[in-house]
Amino acid sequence: MKRSALCLFTAAAALLFAAAPFAARGSLGAKPAVFENFRLGTYVRLSLYGARNAEEKLKAADDIIVSLENLFSMNIPSSDIARLNAAGGGWVAVSQETTRLIALAVEMADFTGGAFNPALGGLSSLWKIGSPDARVPSGSEISEALKHTDYTKIELRSEKGAHFAKLPRGMALDLGAIAKGYVADRLKDFLSDAGARGAIIDLGGNLDFIGEPPRGGPWRAGLQRPESPRGEYFGTIESKGLSVVTSGPYERYFEKNGMRYHHILDPATGRPAQSGLSSVTVADSLSYRADALCTALFVMGRRRAPGFLKKHRDIIAVLVTEEGEVLVTPPARDIFRLTSDDMALAARGDGE
Ligand code: AMP
Ligand code: MG
Repeated sequence: MKRSALCLFTAAAALLFAAAPFAARGSLGAKPAVFENFRLGTYVRLSLYGARNAEEKLKAADDIIVSLENLFSMNIPSSDIARLNAAGGGWVAVSQETTRLIALAVEMADFTGGAFNPALGGLSSLWKIGSPDARVPSGSEISEALKHTDYTKIELRSEKGAHFAKLPRGMALDLGAIAKGYVADRLKDFLSDAGARGAIIDLGGNLDFIGEPPRGGPWRAGLQRPESPRGEYFGTIESKGLSVVTSGPYERYFEKNGMRYHHILDPATGRPAQSGLSSVTVADSLSYRADALCTALFVMGRRRAPGFLKKHRDIIAVLVTEEGEVLVTPPARDIFRLTSDDMALAARGDGE
């Protein structure tokens, strides 16, 4: 089970300070209305500050989560993605929302040179990492599945208000590295339109924020220290309108014969990426971008991620190497704060 990779101490702080000053200032209610449930394969927690009819809004937000999960999950047989994966190469009628997410996923795959690849569904089904049936597939199973991962062959078509998608025979989609980000974006739009003055959207490893905390100042996300107990942070990122997303091999894995197999696959090998990194955090105004990018940077790893980040200097990212060195890209420097004494910032902050 995947649990939150990023946790918040702002939420805790907000609760700690839940007494009069904020309510008395007549600003945001200091105590949030909270919705929590297991959704999207993870713990989801929505905290809403200062909204009228907060319970109703949270219920409506949960309806959005459930409806999108029912479209995008590989594991719900009636979902658009499961039907597409089972179609054996034919056109399948899907919702407009599904074509939109597939198009964004293909865009991110292009942008990352295929390090993020939404067409790894065949491989995910072989490994089943995160399920009790997880196993190490044979070399021939992996090479067969790898033949069907060319995401440039995904086709989308819209006609008279109806929407269709088609995969080459043998291909299956897995949107697990981008869907939570997409859902976070939808929730942020919905809750902002619904008048939320402050909110924390926590979808497992995907965090997003609206407005400001009741005590003012920016929201702050705590960055999970890789391999440490949940809730231990190595640093913080200030978020003014940014979603903050972390990917790491510690989030989901299984062990077999003394080897650890984690859930982020290298599309070049069909096996868990040998990254040299122990976590990647990306902050972006669009959560789907942050989500896909942190998975991609993890796949690129210690060797290739710095070159990519040098070419794309606007990416706000914090990378932790397996040795505990912390690489911070230039636009992340002002908003990232290292809080662990035993971890060191890389001499150059540009990911080099
Ligand atoms: P994340 O937790 O966002 O890094 O996403 C990891 C999930 O995305 C995995 O559990 C797989 O379902 C899927 N996935 C694994 N490797 C990749 C990859 N290289 N590109 C796209 N999706 C992937
Ligand atoms: Mg991701």
